[in-house]
Amino acid sequence: MVTFAVGRLKIEDCRLFSCLFVCFLLCQFRIFERISVLFQMDEFPLIKWIRNRKKKSNAVVCGIGDDCAVINTGKNTLCLITTDMLVEGTHFDLNKYNASEVGRKAIACSISDIASMGCKPSVAVISLCFPHGTKNSFAKRLYAGIWEIADKYDIDIVGGDIISGEGPFCINVTLLGKNEGLMPVYRSGAKAGDKILVTGRLGGSLLGKHMFFEPRLDEGIALNKNFTVHAMIDISDGLTADLNHILEESGVGAVLFEDKIPVSDDALKISKKTGKTPIHHAFSDGEDYELLAVLSKTQAEKVLTSDLFHGLEISCIGEIVEDKGLWLRDGKGKLRRIRPKGYKHC
Ligand SMILES: [Mg+2]
Repeated sequence: MVTFAVGRLKIEDCRLFSCLFVCFLLCQFRIFERISVLFQMDEFPLIKWIRNRKKKSNAVVCGIGDDCAVINTGKNTLCLITTDMLVEGTHFDLNKYNASEVGRKAIACSISDIASMGCKPSVAVISLCFPHGTKNSFAKRLYAGIWEIADKYDIDIVGGDIISGEGPFCINVTLLGKNEGLMPVYRSGAKAGDKILVTGRLGGSLLGKHMFFEPRLDEGIALNKNFTVHAMIDISDGLTADLNHILEESGVGAVLFEDKIPVSDDALKISKKTGKTPIHHAFSDGEDYELLAVLSKTQAEKVLTSDLFHGLEISCIGEIVEDKGLWLRDGKGKLRRIRPKGYKHC
């Protein structure tokens, strides 16, 4: 037993001293902070944990792990279900965008999920949590935006829930779709040798596209109807993050061609503010809501020369390989391993 005196405090236990010393070291190297990070919520491990529970019904054709769940509802009839929650301050800023624009975006995200499976949206239910004191006129403007895009894509709003709380304002859209004789395109069908196509241009969506994008619904259905698409996803988290979802579900890898990535003007603009490269933004910015499709070489060539897409830019940005992982091939043919990066939901 040793005795230490610190001012008037006497500590007569060497074990206590050892504990204090260890705490000092932990604080010094910010180890507490790192340990606490280990216990924070991480979206994908949590989804994996939930997914590990065995599904109960044979009617579930596709459960967790794709853009929509797919349920068998009868002879050749499949029902697609997707849900998206948007929270004020996280997904939109009401100081920058009005209620109508928020309403439009909330449903457009879900339409994009149905588009990525090459199917058609049909009905939606919408749940809302308004902060106490929200005016009726705000709710009416919100619905004006919802109805504008719902009418355009022939979607009926058939229900939902409205509550009020402390805030912030939250909106949750659950959208149902139908296959109309087509097979939904899943994330899991990519094969080595396939080509990777993307619609539109990528990156910098924060400058406006993340609110005002047009879901690629006609293009998703046209791809599914007229070509054999092995896998498809919409780019909501970021190109490399969403491509990685396809790679994981299909058990394959991919090589991206650096000089073929369609970098948007907004990615160029935003890179001047952030100091990051435009291609970094094209690879990792979320909410482009473009389609990423994987097809055989022959089918991909047919898509690239097709006039079904009314002049929309479609680019071949890479190919699927057998070895798992993601690589970037520069203009000189040199390969380097890259890590998928994108928006993390929690
Ligand atoms: Mg999606």
